[in-house]
Amino acid sequence: ETTINKIAAGEVVERPASVVKELIENSIDAGATSIEIEIGEGGSAYMRITDNGKGMTEEDARLAVLRHATSKIQSVEDLFDIASLGFRGEALASIASVSHFVLTTRTVEQDLGTRILIDGGTFTDCIPYGSAPGTTIEVKELFFNTPARRKFLKTERTESSKIQDIVGKLALSNPHIAFKLTIDDRVAIITPGSGSIQDTVAALYGYKTKNDIFPIAYESEHIYIEGVVSKPTLLKSTRIWQTIIVNNRVISDKTILKAIDNAYHALLPKSGYPLVLLHITVPASMVDINVHPRKSEVKFEDDKIIFKAVYHAILNALNNPLH
Ligand code: ADP
Ligand code: MG
Repeated sequence: ETTINKIAAGEVVERPASVVKELIENSIDAGATSIEIEIGEGGSAYMRITDNGKGMTEEDARLAVLRHATSKIQSVEDLFDIASLGFRGEALASIASVSHFVLTTRTVEQDLGTRILIDGGTFTDCIPYGSAPGTTIEVKELFFNTPARRKFLKTERTESSKIQDIVGKLALSNPHIAFKLTIDDRVAIITPGSGSIQDTVAALYGYKTKNDIFPIAYESEHIYIEGVVSKPTLLKSTRIWQTIIVNNRVISDKTILKAIDNAYHALLPKSGYPLVLLHITVPASMVDINVHPRKSEVKFEDDKIIFKAVYHAILNALNNPLH
């Protein structure tokens, strides 16, 4: 079992940023409105994720750290209509198998919470523990027992910036959640959780950007697209400011990136990449999210329909005479 978890960890847990992503997604699934992330030394010393979500009872917490323990899928049919971000039930078990792992959690109904300690996949303790409602997960010394993987980690700076990138993207996909990221005791990200996409963009990229972005609002053939695209005054040399969210999931997708590029450069033949945030909502039947272990890619039933929608959404936003 420990070995299986360590192998599975290779798929789910590529690096500290993938741990942060899985844990934040769990917090989102738990209904959190506030999520705090603290990391040290690029995440390799420690990562601590604290949420004010629904928490777990002792029984739930004991189950949660077992492989294939998910509270989110009740039947095979559910697999085809997935509303929550997690559904495989492997993240916690995998992460706990390659770290010193501490889970502290409490539901509002309980007076006392629960703390579970796991070391390299070995369950070491479960004790009653006084804590605020919600869940805190601490992951220390990631890959301490898989030295080959630990050696593969990039510099602290690189790993930290990957974490900052994913936290920013998750904040953009959840403007109603207040995020705070602290890197080695320095606040790197803080978003208001007001629900406004523009406010969240401004909090992440600087308040000046507010004047340099157009809203996107597009609808056709059951595809809904919301978001922002920047004016040519706000271009980057990389895609660092481009975030694509499909049915609440941050993904990467070549077709969508191509549609963005084509639309933007059809109107504005300047070089560089605009700030783009797309919240795309499509019927579950039009997209398969179950194609990638880290769930970072999806497969559309028809790429052309998506391409067309994104292309027109961007063009409309740039062309809107109201600007
Ligand atoms: P999955 O998200 O695929 O269900 P995980 O291993 O990520 O699998 O989590 C296992 C289970 O632990 C979840 O289904 C959920 O019931 C519980 N859980 C994990 N994180 C949290 C959290 N932050 N708050 C409440 N419950 C959680
Ligand atoms: Mg999960």
